[in-house]
Amino acid sequence: MNLIADRLNRISPSLTIAMTAKARALKAAGKDVIGLSSGEPDFDTPRNVKDAAIAAIERGETKYTDVAGTPALRKAVCEKFKRDSGLDYKPEEIIIATGGKQVIFDALVATINPGDEAIIPAPCWVSYPDIVQLAEGTPVIVQCGQNAGFKMTGEQLEAAITPKTKWLILNNPCNPTGAAYNAEELKKITDVLMKHPHVWVFTDDIYEKLNYDGFKPATILEVEPRLRDRTVTMNGCSKAYAMTGWRIGFAGAPVHLIKAMDKLQGQSTSNTSSVSQAAAIEALTGPQESIEEMRKVYERRRNMVVEMLNQAPGIRCHKPEGAFYVFPDMRGCIGKTTAGGKKIETDEDFTIALLEEVGVATVHGAAFLSPGHFRISYATSDEALREACTRIQKFCAGMK
Ligand code: PLP
Repeated sequence: MNLIADRLNRISPSLTIAMTAKARALKAAGKDVIGLSSGEPDFDTPRNVKDAAIAAIERGETKYTDVAGTPALRKAVCEKFKRDSGLDYKPEEIIIATGGKQVIFDALVATINPGDEAIIPAPCWVSYPDIVQLAEGTPVIVQCGQNAGFKMTGEQLEAAITPKTKWLILNNPCNPTGAAYNAEELKKITDVLMKHPHVWVFTDDIYEKLNYDGFKPATILEVEPRLRDRTVTMNGCSKAYAMTGWRIGFAGAPVHLIKAMDKLQGQSTSNTSSVSQAAAIEALTGPQESIEEMRKVYERRRNMVVEMLNQAPGIRCHKPEGAFYVFPDMRGCIGKTTAGGKKIETDEDFTIALLEEVGVATVHGAAFLSPGHFRISYATSDEALREACTRIQKFCAGMK
């Protein structure tokens, strides 16, 4: 009898985590490696948020809380949704989880029956298809190429919907492309959803605060409030407040779904950390200036990275609206041989050679279901980014 359950064969380990671990091991072995593979802000958590956590510890807020989160944090999330997007959620329509990832897990595992389909526009974040598969659902991948700005059209959505479609999973702005939908673009999606009342929509807005050149990503319910009874609006503190380690994700959804997610969470992790919840209240309701400071830095880095990558022979890099990633097309390098003698046949060959020959860790596009590309996270210092892009330029220029 096998020890490991069959259900685990349906999923793969996270390739972004694997690449980050490989880069870390090379670094530990004394190699000069610049890590651009991890989706983690390089900023420290804002001072006021840390102070709120320390105060919570001193007050003794170190015990279990309600599984779905403290009443105070659920209320703060309602205020956040109202202030930022004009959405009216009540505290009982909110759940707090251990990161945005657990919100996704809760919602999908609580709702997907074997054979149910979830439409996922690609390039997509690595975890969506795996969580759908773990829940015995079928991911339906819709390819949205660089020429379409990496965005799904209403026609593509219409063509992907079947009687078995349970979810559309939208990520706005998107990891790995940084592409984001504004209200007008989203309306084309919501118009299609209005025609198919059996389809629910999960909108992962975790990069909402990181947008550039005045771009305003919209969220589904801002654009089409009539979808309220079949929408999950997900967000969290990890990216906007540089709080990845605190593990705070949250969502607004109809009460019957929140109750189902609460039930699942109650038999797995229970509440997320009480101290993190106290910190999240301060993050969401305290001064918001730190977001703007970080956003400006990301914008400057994005501009530099896009410009430098477009000077690398064989690379074509789109200028994204948000998040902290670029997803350049590397197909111009396919068929060539690197200075180190490696023939590049795939995006994975490219990222491995890039790491081994010039010490730059990125993630290949196939990990995001879009081969022919690679992802760079620019959530790292300007100096490291400049050096990494210079190495990529030389690496590409050295190919024959
Ligand atoms: N959604 C997307 C698109 C992400 O990129 C990430 C993290 O990389 C998450 C959700 C998960 O965030 P958290 O760290 O809060 O679980």
